[in-house]
Amino acid sequence: QADIAMSMAKRQGRNHLFFYKPQIAQNQRLDVNLRNQFQQAIDQERLQLFYQPIVDLKTGKVIAAEALMRWQIHEGNYVPPAKFIPMAETTGQIIPASQWAFAQACDDLRVMLQQQSDLQVCVNLSAVQFSRANFFEQIVATIEEHQLTNQQVELELTESILMDDSEHAIALINRFREAGLSMTIDDFGTGFSSLSYLKKLPVNKLKIDRAFIQDIIKKPSDEAIVRGILAMARQLNIAVVAEGIETKEQAVRLAELGCDYGQGYYFAKPMPLAEFMEFLA
Ligand code: C2E
Ligand code: MG
Ligand code: MG
Ligand code: MG
Repeated sequence: QADIAMSMAKRQGRNHLFFYKPQIAQNQRLDVNLRNQFQQAIDQERLQLFYQPIVDLKTGKVIAAEALMRWQIHEGNYVPPAKFIPMAETTGQIIPASQWAFAQACDDLRVMLQQQSDLQVCVNLSAVQFSRANFFEQIVATIEEHQLTNQQVELELTESILMDDSEHAIALINRFREAGLSMTIDDFGTGFSSLSYLKKLPVNKLKIDRAFIQDIIKKPSDEAIVRGILAMARQLNIAVVAEGIETKEQAVRLAELGCDYGQGYYFAKPMPLAEFMEFLA
């Protein structure tokens, strides 16, 4: 317990006094437990992927499916990705989990293509993967093994990718783009330096975060921000997806503003492959 307290104190930085509380030891035990259970889920291939459609706002046509990881810890009881993804990034478990997810997404895209031959699959990446050696080669090899083309795959990343080594990240994004993959900035607008970093990043798509979409009808200031993002993206030749569209009104307004694509509960919630196939049909 003293070790845990010490390491937590270090993590909190030397300017912070650390007061030991039993509650903290309790939380650490829960974390270890969760980590072990997640490892079992990886080992026993019990992780799942759900898919949510991304649609062309002008035509309503589905253009892509975003793969979202699901972890069912007990019958009917899912741990939210917002909880297990950050944990897996800390423990390194995100690497095997993501390798599984990427191969599974490629498998699933092959199934989807039987229903709709021009569909793409979008996969979320973690900054941890980005800093690993051979990451590019692994992704490209997996695509090839599944007899897919690089053009059929989109990689979604957040600006956290720029935190550690932005030169490396930019070079890697360039490699992916040159190989024909589509690169998307996810959760756009929630970071600390959106406007300046966008200029540096060789992405071809951005996803406006749900935070700016949810009140777009009621809040003129949110609409103004979305207009600004759209104008800038147009200048930079970057396509735009609006995340978190929940109403028809929002979809219509975004289409009027010139937003290319949309995603959200209004169109469909994330769902297992079988349901997604029915949705496509
Ligand atoms: P994200 O990539 O921004 O994914 C969109 C999230 O918004 C998903 O949450 C989705 O279920 C949710 N969403 C979609 N439409 C709506 C809507 O209309 N209203 C509301 N309220 N929510 C909507 P989810 O599945 O819980 O995933 C959360 C985050 O976890 C993802 O955000 C992504 O950052 C991360 N994540 C999920 N799967 C993976 C994965 O395989 N690898 C990595 N590295 N991260 C993942
Ligand atoms: Mg995403
Ligand atoms: Mg997002
Ligand atoms: Mg997100």
